[in-house]
Amino acid sequence: MIIAIDGPAAAGKGTMARRMAKHFNLAYLDTGLLYRATGKRVLDQGGDAEDVEFATRVAENLTADDLNADGLRTEDVGQAASKVSAIPGVRAALLQFQRDFAATPPGGTNGAVLDGRDIGTVVCPDAPVKLFVTASAEVRAERRLKELLGRGSEAIYARVLEDMKERDARDSSRVTSPLETAADARLLDTSDLDAEQAFAEALEFVNSRT
Ligand code: C5P
Repeated sequence: MIIAIDGPAAAGKGTMARRMAKHFNLAYLDTGLLYRATGKRVLDQGGDAEDVEFATRVAENLTADDLNADGLRTEDVGQAASKVSAIPGVRAALLQFQRDFAATPPGGTNGAVLDGRDIGTVVCPDAPVKLFVTASAEVRAERRLKELLGRGSEAIYARVLEDMKERDARDSSRVTSPLETAADARLLDTSDLDAEQAFAEALEFVNSRT
């Protein structure tokens, strides 16, 4: 059983995916971490996230340890992730890892939940269950702001909203695997839903498909 969950930043897909995996006893992969880890390594090595050759080489040499690095969730790393993720060589380098994870999930579970931007369209186009989770940019910026402040980071709403819109634009306009809704995905707008309500709706859809 493969559940593909896509959507823009801070739409609530990570929380939903984690809960879904627990509910059905499936492995979980946050694919954004692969791009974040690549972006962070590029920054740490003093590189430019838009340097095609440099970023591709970093993605090709990414290790499992890189996915556990500290600081992957910062806004700077999110922006760098969004830049490296537009590079076709980076996406190609990370694609096989994601497909292998879906085909043979660690822990011998009966399937996996993957969340990202292109899971239903590119990574697992045959997934029987696809969700596209979204919310307005304003609602997502508020959620991200709360998360950042909760972590003790300094942040202001206007800046978070601006960054969110910039990342949305880059993720949706890139040529390779842009953020888009798979034709057979269920669209779930969580703007007016709390995490509990969003999960209940998603669960109802998954159950209807399995
Ligand atoms: O989901 P998260 O915010 O951690 O993702 C960071 C960035 O990685 C996104 O802005 C997006 O550019 C990129 N990404 C992607 N494809 C995925 C997952 C993430 O391009 N499947």
